[in-house]
Amino acid sequence: MVFLHRITRAWKRWRIRRLYNSSEWVKASILAEEHIFCKTNDLFARDIVIRCMYNQQNWNGVLEFAKRFPLEQNKILADRARGKIGDDGEALPERFSLIEWDDVNLLENWYQYGDTVWWRHPWGWTHWIMPAGFQLSNIHPSLLALATKVLIKPWVPESTKIVTERRGFGTKLALSFSGGMDSMAAALLLPTDTILSYHERSFPSLLSHDLPIRLFDEIKQRWGRDVLQVPSNHEKIRTNHGKQVGFSTDYAAGVHLILLADYLNLGGIAFGTPMDNIWLQKGRKFRDFKESWHWNYWVKEFANAGLHLVMPINHISEAGAIKICQQSDLIESINSCLRGRAGKFCGKCWKCFHKNGPLGRKIDPMSNEIQILLHKIPLRTAQHALWAIQRMGLEYVVPHLSKELIQPLDWWEKAYAPGLDLIQRPWRTTIQENTEKFIPYMENPELLHEVNLFSDYPL
Ligand SMILES: [Zn+2]
Repeated sequence: MVFLHRITRAWKRWRIRRLYNSSEWVKASILAEEHIFCKTNDLFARDIVIRCMYNQQNWNGVLEFAKRFPLEQNKILADRARGKIGDDGEALPERFSLIEWDDVNLLENWYQYGDTVWWRHPWGWTHWIMPAGFQLSNIHPSLLALATKVLIKPWVPESTKIVTERRGFGTKLALSFSGGMDSMAAALLLPTDTILSYHERSFPSLLSHDLPIRLFDEIKQRWGRDVLQVPSNHEKIRTNHGKQVGFSTDYAAGVHLILLADYLNLGGIAFGTPMDNIWLQKGRKFRDFKESWHWNYWVKEFANAGLHLVMPINHISEAGAIKICQQSDLIESINSCLRGRAGKFCGKCWKCFHKNGPLGRKIDPMSNEIQILLHKIPLRTAQHALWAIQRMGLEYVVPHLSKELIQPLDWWEKAYAPGLDLIQRPWRTTIQENTEKFIPYMENPELLHEVNLFSDYPL
């Protein structure tokens, strides 16, 4: 029996090592975690876990783990990780190094040092570099509560129970602005005094800020408007849960604006989320968004913090957003490609396929990434991708989608009038007027209500 156990453990070590050697950090780490207290595999498993964190650039995770298991080789990795934190531009101030996550008073985890806001979460630290004059001590507790929720609700259910007094609504509106097509369409529909603000990922990754930064310069030159840029590393929080770098929840993209709401006197935060992600579930099945749990929950949470949650292009598809941007004087500078360098888009990524291709920009539909995603069923962002295929006349590349491409999809470029009801006054009036300047309404909104693509596959 003992012999059998030994063999099983050796086999598990072999499996973990194989995953690790194939750079499958997430899978290797999940399996190794199961053995960190095992009598025979503990040292091996701890070594794999910390090395996986290191390879995923989860520096805070490495520091935490080395503190928990102070082995010599872990200390070496922790030292290296400490050096890497500097890559973000900001290293944790010494005075915060011993502070732990306060799991009783969740709002007591926020700190400021100079222009940097530091937030202690259960797995480490995150920071934002704020504009000059920002004072954390002046901000309303309901804003800290909302920021906490959008950052860790999926993993810390207690965060949903934070209760604070209500904040009164401010008077200004800000748009969480990425510089891509959808964001630009939103900026073109909103009033011209809307504050534009960019969350700037502050650590090195595949994502390039090159194209958005060039656009911001153009916006300044032609429109005389500034884009407020707030660097932060909060997209790393998810990596503590085996996920890729990205936003913790849909509204984490605007968390810098939640923190700046008092500073900017905000009464609303707008997000450039298109019809594809609002009125369609996973971009392929209609839902009545107004009645959804998601909408009703977050509208209430934002309102408690004195903020309207504004969806200025909920009635516009990604195709409609392209049509709107096409009519802007900035069209040459608008680009959704996240891999652009030296002012050029890559032409090989999925964004280039469905955003740049339909604009007539030169892309390579046979690139590896585009081919893999075109052959993945259910098709990603299906309704829009089908429209893009039709628009570019690429039906011959996807014979397996011929059934989905029988009907003409021009209606997808038009606005969905019932969506205007989702937008609060006073912004609704301007958005409606501007929408009508750019694109017509769908003659038959039923076509949207009937969308149910790849229905054999669960959502
Ligand atoms: Zn691209």
